[in-house]
Amino acid sequence: MKTLDDLLREGVTGRRVLVRADLNVPLDGSTITDDGRIRAVLPTLARLRDGGARVVVMSHLGRPKGAPDPKYSLAPVAARLGELLGAEVAFATDTVGDSAKSTVDGLRPGQVALLENLRFNPGETSKGDAERADFATRLAAFGEAYVDDAFGAVHRKHASVYELARLLPHYAGGLVLRELEVLGRLASAAQPVGAATSQRSSAAQPVGAATSQRSSDPARPYVVVLGGSKVSDKLAVIQALLPTVDALLVGGGMCFTFLKAQGHGVGDSLLEADQLDNCRGLLGSGKIALPTDIVVADRVAEDADVRTVPATAIPDGWKGLDIGPATVSAFADVLSTARTVFWNGPMGVFELAPFAAGTRGVAEAITKVDGFTVVGGGDSAAAVRQLGLDESAFGHISTGGGASLEYLEGKKLPGIEALEG
Ligand code: ATP
Repeated sequence: MKTLDDLLREGVTGRRVLVRADLNVPLDGSTITDDGRIRAVLPTLARLRDGGARVVVMSHLGRPKGAPDPKYSLAPVAARLGELLGAEVAFATDTVGDSAKSTVDGLRPGQVALLENLRFNPGETSKGDAERADFATRLAAFGEAYVDDAFGAVHRKHASVYELARLLPHYAGGLVLRELEVLGRLASAAQPVGAATSQRSSAAQPVGAATSQRSSDPARPYVVVLGGSKVSDKLAVIQALLPTVDALLVGGGMCFTFLKAQGHGVGDSLLEADQLDNCRGLLGSGKIALPTDIVVADRVAEDADVRTVPATAIPDGWKGLDIGPATVSAFADVLSTARTVFWNGPMGVFELAPFAAGTRGVAEAITKVDGFTVVGGGDSAAAVRQLGLDESAFGHISTGGGASLEYLEGKKLPGIEALEG
């Protein structure tokens, strides 16, 4: 896989370089509530600018339906990117139209442009190979080289991630490399020797600063903590991880489908009724720990009526919105013995103060682990920052939720395959 270093060695002065970034930041209206993903790509952009490249940045934001939608405009991101870079960022109000063409044509060496949300064009996420290829061809016309630094999107077979990479000389950006190195170390720490795939084996080397823990640290016990809301998304991950983990701690919205599968009432909590049989099957492993107490409320609001109840006695009409203090303490006990930890998904609706204690408690327990700890997932990383936790206390905070989970699941990631080809 060629890297940004290779591209810089080849020389970028005056060349138009397309950078696929993951600038999919959380927004409150047009206010960016967490700019972690913008900051993460800054080193790559700075190196290209210093090299004198004309830099064209592309990203998606949210899930617009293949047409312009002001709610998902990247305009606020362009402004923030400019502030962080300390240089004006030219913003194109479309993806491959007149605005994009004139913006790219007007770029001088060392300047940066951002195209509007790629998902405003149906070709970006189309299921049709020809439609994606057509959009990629139009994007490719803007550049002479392609750098993928969008780790959060490498698991998507989308035009800007897969087809575009194959149309231009392609290079992995620093962020993608670092993510692969760290997750590769996690995968190799957790898997029997010899189980690594080609994607992993190139990535499984110790990586200095990225993995400050001593490489002689024992990798086990390996504990995975899963939360968040997308139960069906994560069941496949649980299935794939169970043979390699020593314990899997489940909180967040997904725990209620498991509790229901054990025969308990879950009130009005999140439930995916069609997954009950799957959950029952997974519980048979004996490795899954579920909450023993739950913070319930009459509604999802700061001023809701809130109580803590046993996980086996959630009252009808109430919603489970966080794990309770006894669960935090039990999960912390398990984590205190761990030597490798992967955490994805908040333990509760951490965005609201009454339901943030579970996520905070588990996150704090992870910061105390004497071993290698990885936080994967946009929301989990945002939770770490929003709760004011010390980011440097974690071994690595990944910018990609779905991507890091699919990597650990052992799936081939289309964006990485394209870079390797
Ligand atoms: P991503 O996949 O985007 O990187 P993630 O994997 O870190 O993110 P998600 O699965 O998207 O996490 O879930 C995060 C959301 O889950 C948060 O917005 C949080 O409010 C919500 N959540 C957590 N616990 C509950 C619960 N008990 N009920 C409802 N929602 C919950």
